[in-house]
Amino acid sequence: MKTALITGASRGIGAAIAESFAGSGYHVIINYNKSRTAAEALCARLSSAGRSAECIRADVSKPDEVAKLLALLPDGSPDTVVNNAGVAHYGLLQDMTDGEYSMVMDTNVRGVFNVCRAVLPRMISKKSGRIINISSVWGRRGAACEAIYSASKAAVIGLTRALAKEVGPSGITVNCICPGVIDTDMLSSFSDGDKAAMASDTPLMRLGLASDVAAAALFFAQSGFVTGQILDVSGGFAL
Ligand code: NAP
Repeated sequence: MKTALITGASRGIGAAIAESFAGSGYHVIINYNKSRTAAEALCARLSSAGRSAECIRADVSKPDEVAKLLALLPDGSPDTVVNNAGVAHYGLLQDMTDGEYSMVMDTNVRGVFNVCRAVLPRMISKKSGRIINISSVWGRRGAACEAIYSASKAAVIGLTRALAKEVGPSGITVNCICPGVIDTDMLSSFSDGDKAAMASDTPLMRLGLASDVAAAALFFAQSGFVTGQILDVSGGFAL
């Protein structure tokens, strides 16, 4: 049975990816940071449906916590990693504190680096592996009042393209998904009116579902000859 580590899988897009991978026969490692109850509930729900799942806490921004998580796996590395954990920050750049900057960059960029660096030696020795990074449409295009978030997600796109070249000869694929507006807790600061406006700005005329992103992640996990790709899952938002 193949193992998939999904970071930030207690809620939202990560939880949907965990459900989708578990339903496709993977043993899923549901990583969480603060939402232990939600992660354990998801794990219990999957297990009671006959799926294979466990949940492990680790703050992906901290390399020692990532190392401890991987040390709990029998093989020391999953076959597939989905670097999904992320945080948003809305506001004018000039008002952003050093702490807010660090929170966004440490989670969204350093977190991806920490996990990739930790899983790659084992993937390289096995000559196989799948890494799927979750960026954002704003990483391609930039959003006002989300400058550092956009910068962090642009970094994930750059990392994906470069790492795909670096580890391709070792049989490892690295791909990236750029979600548009997906209806999760990350949108909690937006009103219903804001959400309706974003839906009407989307050519497919609705907000995305976490399961829409999960379908793309599963595609990359199951594709052996696709690498270095950056795929919008956005309903055409911000084309
Ligand atoms: P969400 O509902 O806010 O969930 C975020 C997840 O990330 C939670 O499971 C959270 O875990 C986890 N997380 C945050 N910091 C972490 C850390 N340091 N270590 C481990 N886990 C951490 O967000 P979402 O909408 O599902 O977003 C998932 C990904 O998609 C993010 O990378 C986000 O930037 C990206 N994205 C989302 C949208 C959107 O419209 N929703 C659009 C574009 C891109 P805990 O709760 O356990 O702390």
